Amino acid sequence: MITLDNVTLCYRDRPAVHHLSGQFAPGSLTAIVGPNGAGKSTLLGGLMGRIAPSTGRIGLPAGLAGRIAYLPQQADIDRSFPVSVLDVVMLGHWGRLGAWRAGGAAHRTQALEALAAVGLAGVERRAIGELSAGQFQRVLFARLLLQDAPVLLLDEPFNAIDERTTADLLTLLHRWHAEGRTVVAVLHDLAQVRAHFPHTLLLAREPIAWGATTEVLQPQHLQRARLQAEHWEAQAPWCEAPGSAAALPGPRIAA
Ligand code: ADP
Ligand code: MG
Repeated sequence: MITLDNVTLCYRDRPAVHHLSGQFAPGSLTAIVGPNGAGKSTLLGGLMGRIAPSTGRIGLPAGLAGRIAYLPQQADIDRSFPVSVLDVVMLGHWGRLGAWRAGGAAHRTQALEALAAVGLAGVERRAIGELSAGQFQRVLFARLLLQDAPVLLLDEPFNAIDERTTADLLTLLHRWHAEGRTVVAVLHDLAQVRAHFPHTLLLAREPIAWGATTEVLQPQHLQRARLQAEHWEAQAPWCEAPGSAAALPGPRIAA
């Protein structure tokens, strides 16, 4: 169980995620949705341990530290670096090999199998800069396959990705879920969330709703998330007294 207890995540003194409490159960499949700037990527950073909570606590089960796989937003990746597809997939072995040990023949074979599993057999020598967005996303999913992690955090995995690739990668995601892994994905397409994700966290810096997807994606919740987003730019104060209603960013909107 990954547990969040009144978590606030800040950049300098600005809260980006505010007073978030809840749980990701082992083996759960959860979508995180919310407006731009809602703190979705920041929350994944918190779960990865890259951003320490300013208040509250993120509890990970013993042994999980360092075993969480993470897929960044494509926009955050520089693809001009001249490395091959195989190099990128082989990075999935790092957690087990250590950074300075070269992968052997068996690891190379596994990487080629992972590429085949995402429909990219035969492209291992290509430079990553030559691939389409969809092909590159398949490469990153091949890397996730090699990582063999019990928890996967995916930031907008299907953004600007073609339909065919999205369908194939959703199948992989369901396979991970069936294998009992915990999967958390930031998504924008609510129809996709309704069709594929049993649980949803609707975030607008503070949580609007978290639970069964059909309960969470109700019009009044989505409306409230939108209203929060309209107001937070101008007036998101530093949380002076964590837990006090007066310290929450923006006006409080009655549910
Ligand atoms: P989302 O992923 O939901 O679009 P983010 O988590 O990226 O939202 O951002 C939440 C808020 O934190 C935004 O106001 C954003 O401008 C701010 N933010 C994000 N990253 C940084 C950063 N590295 N430094 C300062 N502020 C940031
Ligand atoms: Mg984001």
